[in-house]
Amino acid sequence: MDEIRMKLDKELREAIGRLRRMGGGLAADDLPGAIGDNSPFADEVDGIQVNESRELGFATRTMLVERVNRLAEALDRLSEGAYGVCVECGERIAPARLRALPEVQTCVRCQDRLERMERRMETVGAVFGDISEEI
Ligand SMILES: [Zn+2]
Repeated sequence: MDEIRMKLDKELREAIGRLRRMGGGLAADDLPGAIGDNSPFADEVDGIQVNESRELGFATRTMLVERVNRLAEALDRLSEGAYGVCVECGERIAPARLRALPEVQTCVRCQDRLERMERRMETVGAVFGDISEEI
C-alpha cells in the first residue's frame, strides 16, 4: 500500500504544481478537504462544452482542482483503510483500475451506472424520482 500512497502523493503534488503554474492562485474553496463527501462535480466537468480556448483553460483548471481534491480524498481513505473500496456498492475496485486511476472511488460498474444516470438527467432534467425506480 505504500507504493500507492507514494503515487497518490506524487500525483497530488504534480496537480497542485500545475495549478500554481496556471496562475490565478488557489481559492479557499479549491483546497483539498473543502469538498467533503461524494461531490457529483467530477462528472459535471465531462459535460462542459469546450469551444473556446478561454473556456478550455477554465475547464482544465476545474478538472485539475477536482483531481487535487480526489487525490487528497484518496490519501485520506488510504489512512482510514477505506482505499480501493467502491463508495457506491462497497465492493473492492479492480487493482488494474486503481493502477490506471489511483484516485477513483467507484468500481467500473458503478461508474457506468453513474454516467448513464448523468446523461439521462441531462436529457430528461433532474427528475430524481423516476430514475431511482429504474436502477
Ligand atoms: Zn461499485
